[in-house]
Amino acid sequence: MQPILLLVHTESDGTLAKHALESLSAALTAARESGCPLTVGIVGGQVQPAADQIAAAGADRILGIAGEAFGQPRYATDAAATEAIGRAAGAAIVLAPSTSRWARVLPGVAYRLGGRADTHITAIQWRDGQAAVTRWFYRQRMEAVLTREQRPWVVLLDPGCFAPWSGPAGSAPVEMVAVEALATRTTVTGIHAPQADQQTIRPDAKLLLVAGAGWTKKQADGAIHGADAERLILGFLHATQASLGGSKSLVDASGEGEAVLGFMTHLNQIGQTGSTPRHRKGLSTCCHGEEPHVVGWRFVNERRAINLDANCGWARGKADVVYVADAFALMEQVNRTLEASRLQTTRV
Ligand SMILES: Cc1cc2nc3c(=O)[nH]c(=O)nc-3n(C[C@H](O)[C@H](O)[C@H](O)COP(=O)(O)OP(=O)(O)OC[C@H]3O[C@@H](n4cnc5c(N)ncnc54)[C@H](O)[C@@H]3O)c2cc1C
Repeated sequence: MQPILLLVHTESDGTLAKHALESLSAALTAARESGCPLTVGIVGGQVQPAADQIAAAGADRILGIAGEAFGQPRYATDAAATEAIGRAAGAAIVLAPSTSRWARVLPGVAYRLGGRADTHITAIQWRDGQAAVTRWFYRQRMEAVLTREQRPWVVLLDPGCFAPWSGPAGSAPVEMVAVEALATRTTVTGIHAPQADQQTIRPDAKLLLVAGAGWTKKQADGAIHGADAERLILGFLHATQASLGGSKSLVDASGEGEAVLGFMTHLNQIGQTGSTPRHRKGLSTCCHGEEPHVVGWRFVNERRAINLDANCGWARGKADVVYVADAFALMEQVNRTLEASRLQTTRV
């Protein structure tokens, strides 16, 4: 029986991140339900720490490709490594976390292996011995269950859909796979990343704060209060470690050089043409709550909104609670309360 292959890459310290462990849970369930053996393929600068991390998971076989060339994401080396593992494993179904590194390379590798790839998969099940995967279409408005005849079938799993595997570390043997001589023209010279405290997109945060265009509009006194908006939003993010989302109107204004919030980029956009994050709670501020925006809240279950307009979209059944209030005044008060409780906790 052909095995199921789980393909993961390590982090810079050689271990597996949460998304890879979520995919391991999915792969273990798939192996159990299908009765197929499970092979785990690991690529990275070093792979033994990752193999030891998941030693107790019970994979039937662990294949590895390690070396300096595989410590960094790069199409040529990643494609060569995953293709070599794919051939060595001889799997019909290949599962992988949909990290930016794998999402870039695995559809091409599926083609090299003569198979097919599907992305943004949120569930996998076995029906009459056949694998079937679930994904959303049209910005999470329709859910479909797909099967495919072509093999290998490479399935990229979205984050936040499976509980991450956890278990004690141990010691697991890794069968190292050789890779053909690599011709690489790309040299990784370093990584430019914002400092941790400047990073406003936090996928694992429990709370999403959305800022809408109202923050940059003229207020009751006829003036724009951009500096106050920045201070209030950043103060809230700092106190709560919430993730920051924006409406399209706001992020577009940022791109067009209008008076805006300096930290807001198109990556923050939530909605039909933005992202669909999976935070437990969401607080919308100065955003009208129109459908193309709210469709990005598909997986945010507890929703609140602050809007001056009692007739805004949120008030029409899209939020659990709507505060009809001035967000500047309300967030000032919220931040003051958060600061007071922080000081109290520090004193205790
Ligand atoms: C094909 C298509 C795709 C789209 N995709 C997206 C998408 O991915 N994401 C997205 O966001 N939009 C998307 N849109 C645009 C969407 O329809 C709206 O235009 C946009 O979401 C509006 O942004 P907004 O609510 O921030 O701004 P506005 O509509 O300008 O609303 C601002 C709100 O702020 C409130 N406000 C102002 N001052 C205060 C204050 N002091 N206190 C409280 N409230 C205040 C106002 O009452 C108003 O409701 C798309 C549209 C189309 C046609």
